Amino acid sequence: MFPSIRWRITVPFVVLTLVTMLWITGTVTDQVRSARLADMREQLLVQAQLIGDAVAERLAAAPVAGSLDPEAQRWAQAVGGRVTIVHRSGAVVGDSAQAGSQSREAQAWPEVRRALNQGETAEASDVEGSLRMAVPVRRDQEIIGVVRIVLPLGEALAEVRALQQMLLWAALGITGLVLAMGLLIANRTARPVLQLTAVANRLADGDLSVRLQPATRDEVGELTRAFNRMAAEMQAQMETLAKERGRLAAVLENMADGVVITGPDGHVRLINPSAARLLDVTPTGAIGQTFAQVVRHYQVIDLWQQCRRQQEIQVGELELDRRGIFWQVIVTPFHEAEEQGYLVIIQDLSRIRRLETVRRDFVSNISHELRTPLASLKALVETLRDGALDDRPAAEHFLDRMDTEVDALTQMVQELLELSRIESGQVGLRLAPTPVSAIVEPPVARLAAQAERKDLTVTVNLPDDLPLVWADAERIQQVVTNLVHNAIKFTPEGGRIEVRARAGVGHEIPANSQRAAVTVDGDAPVVIVSVADTGIGIPARDLSRIFERFYKADRARGSGGTGLGLAIARHLVQSHRGAIWVESVEGKGSTFYFALPAIANGERRKGT
Ligand code: ADP
Repeated sequence: MFPSIRWRITVPFVVLTLVTMLWITGTVTDQVRSARLADMREQLLVQAQLIGDAVAERLAAAPVAGSLDPEAQRWAQAVGGRVTIVHRSGAVVGDSAQAGSQSREAQAWPEVRRALNQGETAEASDVEGSLRMAVPVRRDQEIIGVVRIVLPLGEALAEVRALQQMLLWAALGITGLVLAMGLLIANRTARPVLQLTAVANRLADGDLSVRLQPATRDEVGELTRAFNRMAAEMQAQMETLAKERGRLAAVLENMADGVVITGPDGHVRLINPSAARLLDVTPTGAIGQTFAQVVRHYQVIDLWQQCRRQQEIQVGELELDRRGIFWQVIVTPFHEAEEQGYLVIIQDLSRIRRLETVRRDFVSNISHELRTPLASLKALVETLRDGALDDRPAAEHFLDRMDTEVDALTQMVQELLELSRIESGQVGLRLAPTPVSAIVEPPVARLAAQAERKDLTVTVNLPDDLPLVWADAERIQQVVTNLVHNAIKFTPEGGRIEVRARAGVGHEIPANSQRAAVTVDGDAPVVIVSVADTGIGIPARDLSRIFERFYKADRARGSGGTGLGLAIARHLVQSHRGAIWVESVEGKGSTFYFALPAIANGERRKGT
């Protein structure tokens, strides 16, 4: 009814006070009026009897009408009202008002009639604001007339009215006071509530640090304290939540697995950076789109739909697009508050699969590489045992061949050992500013005789102003030896081999190169060395794998190499923070490149 607490408290008090005061006013006034009237009646009765006694003599003598007027007038003055003397016959013999007029009919006054007829004091009830009383006059028990007194009440009751008025004013005053007090108290009660409301609103707007100072020790103070406790509790919980959320977000941000959360209808609600990268979408663009729009791989969508149908966790290992991309996808239904959703985790297994293939190939390769020399050793031993031992020249020949096989095996084992030492970082590098000529020229010179035997032209082409490189000269010489040796091996007679070097920057290293985990910066200076041949080239499908251990392109199977040379070269270059790569056209020739961090020319001058 009243929207404000102020009026709800004040109005009932005001109404109650007003009603009470009015009731008191009414009751008191009534009581006083009745008492006053009773007094007057008694007085009138006494006065009427006095008048009756005084005029009894003359009434008995049957006076003529109006003859007692002077008497009546005298008495009237004393009484303060109108006095009428009526003869038994009903004739008005004396009247203080309208003296001299005898023609009035006393019978017209009912109180006179009653007094005459019944012989008792009669009163007309409150006619025209006056009190009228008729008292019979007797002589010897016989009624001889009636004295009637009419007293106007107006004056007599004026004080009652004054009292009433005073009481009414008092009622109004007290009500006003109650109103003022009520408003004051209500205001005091409502103020903390209003303050609480304001603070609660700020809390709802997110300002969790607001608090109220409890001003009183009463219930409102208690409420304020409870409110403050609630706010503090809320703030603490929000902080914990924020912290937890931050931790979760960090986990999601940084985890390698892709995470996508969809609603029951398949709309993407959350996607972490890994998932965005795997699915090739932007995280913000993906939110709100359907799972199918974001994922685009039918196998994954199938898995999700299966999970939705069966409401059971689904795990699938999927090969996408036959491009060597393997994903393990796990779709889990979950309930989030009232709502349902699906958690999709995508693990990229491509690298692991690739590594598995490499390991498988490695095992099969090493077995193969070992089997061939072992088988021929076995055959040679058997031949010797079967009699060749007795034939000295033949035996020597077989022993020579056995020696060669053992040498090949020893070389392979040595290379493997070396590779594993380089891989595990056991080979310490003695890095020093080194001129490129010092790492290129000695190996070329050493291999010159071999090249000559195959009638190959080997040229070295180094610009004069090449910067120095940070290198362990001996190790990088090993790289150059491997590359030039391969070029000699895989280039038919009469071919050309050219070794070049040029200065460049990190950016020029192609993305598909075999590079170190910590490689040179994009704009750091590098020197790029290349070994180009006009040999048999490498089939495109083998290009990405020739740097693996034991890997040999099909056509090179019979070349007698171990397949370890490039793997060693790659590891050596990478341990220099460099990169190695190849370009080749089958049948035309190959060019191997490697890049090493260089010392900027300015620095070099400073250093020397
Ligand atoms: P190896 O030469 O002992 O077989 P490498 O690791 O040095 O082992 O080479 C791996 C494979 O790469 C070779 O078997 C060959 O198929 C290929 N390859 C390397 N260099 C050349 C080249 N210059 N021309 C053609 N093929 C090459």
